[in-house]
Amino acid sequence: MTALQFKDIHHGFGGRPVLDGVSLQVRQGEFVCLLGPSGCGKTTLLRLAAGLEIVQSGSIELDDQLVASDKLHVPPEQRRIGLMFQDYALFPHLTVMENILFGLGHGELSQTGKARAIWARNMLARFGLTSLADHYPGTLSGGEQQRVALLRALAPNPPVLLLDEPFSSLDAARRIEMREETAKLIREAGTSAIMVTHDGEEAMFMADRIKVMNKGRIVQSGKPEDIYLKPKSAFVASLSVMPTGFAKP
Ligand code: ATP
Repeated sequence: MTALQFKDIHHGFGGRPVLDGVSLQVRQGEFVCLLGPSGCGKTTLLRLAAGLEIVQSGSIELDDQLVASDKLHVPPEQRRIGLMFQDYALFPHLTVMENILFGLGHGELSQTGKARAIWARNMLARFGLTSLADHYPGTLSGGEQQRVALLRALAPNPPVLLLDEPFSSLDAARRIEMREETAKLIREAGTSAIMVTHDGEEAMFMADRIKVMNKGRIVQSGKPEDIYLKPKSAFVASLSVMPTGFAKP
């Protein structure tokens, strides 16, 4: 089954083309990385999937259901997609726990909500963040905030998670730590994910499959080792960096 599918997406801003016929699939439980340089259209593709941008041409399916085309736009809140975007900050006036449970609705928590609250407490314990449950985001380090943002995105148990450069604000050591934890957590949850990055090493480490993008097109698609060992162009070769001690979690 396909978790997320883009079919022949063309998109532009003010008459300037940004996406030029992008088709791609994320299979159930798969972790796909979109790897490409700044401005090649990666974020636009994720925004279209989330429903934050309206499709101009082509279509998008979630769980084999059409959610967007030139005639249909299912709003973001009805798409059951988790978001972890670089500019999608935590709510400063809510505590860590309130932030994580935000997507589960207000007032009395449902049975599902209660189960997710227990899940959230377990996750905070696993990340060593239990003592921060009642703290506000402003008092947390960058790495702690990113962990909370990841838990907030996963709390409603979305079938698909979209991640846009989620570690861009972290220093090198924290990035490595976070990418390992993130990949592990997403795989454990069985969530299908698509992550945007311009960091070849990050993509090689985290992805089941990599889609290399350039100038609004997917120029190569394959497993990390195929992208690394058999790049189809000098451009792809320039982006692929095998992580030290390469071993997927
Ligand atoms: P980065 O890695 O820098 O985030 P990206 O590959 O994610 O880059 P996009 O953010 O998708 O690229 O942007 C692709 C192009 O579309 C860029 O030239 C950007 O300036 C332009 N663009 C994106 N959103 C808009 C918008 N709302 N209005 C006008 N132009 C836009």
